[in-house]
Amino acid sequence: MRADGTIGNALYGNPDGHGKRSRAASLALRGRSMVSKKVATSGFERSASMAFKTITVKTENEQQMIDITQQVRLVVRESGVKSGVCRIFIPHTTAAVTINENADPNVRRDILTRLEQVAPSDGTYLHTEGNSHAHIKSSLVGSSVSVFVEAGQLVLGTWQSVFLCDFDGPRTRNVMVRVSDG
Ligand code: ZN
Repeated sequence: MRADGTIGNALYGNPDGHGKRSRAASLALRGRSMVSKKVATSGFERSASMAFKTITVKTENEQQMIDITQQVRLVVRESGVKSGVCRIFIPHTTAAVTINENADPNVRRDILTRLEQVAPSDGTYLHTEGNSHAHIKSSLVGSSVSVFVEAGQLVLGTWQSVFLCDFDGPRTRNVMVRVSDG
């Protein structure tokens, strides 16, 4: 390390000496990696207050959006995490998760109607299982969302909810929720 506290050109300073580092530079780099190890360790310790839970939802219709915000809030509360991130992932290829308006149910109807126009249920597809439209809708909407957690609460807008979208129901669907500290 140089007097000014940087390792600066120690790695690249000598064009004819690639790979050759001064002993001082090597020590500085070693010291540096110990610092990052320490950071990683403290991150690992923080992961003690992390929760993972699978929510099970029975859908009722062939295509619908179900508000799962309360179930997600419960996982956040049980986790004890005060400040962090809540990740919500759905492990299905014909369902999705999204965040959208919870007040006017017509918003959900409009979303489903428009998706149906993009990928009609009775359209012609190569996939022989008969649910290609659901695979397409699932990819368009996405399989995960993240929400910040502050003061032990999900940080959602006033009109926002987390929705499970089933495009090939009715089925029993799983939604994985991980709450991480920090
Ligand atoms: Zn399929």
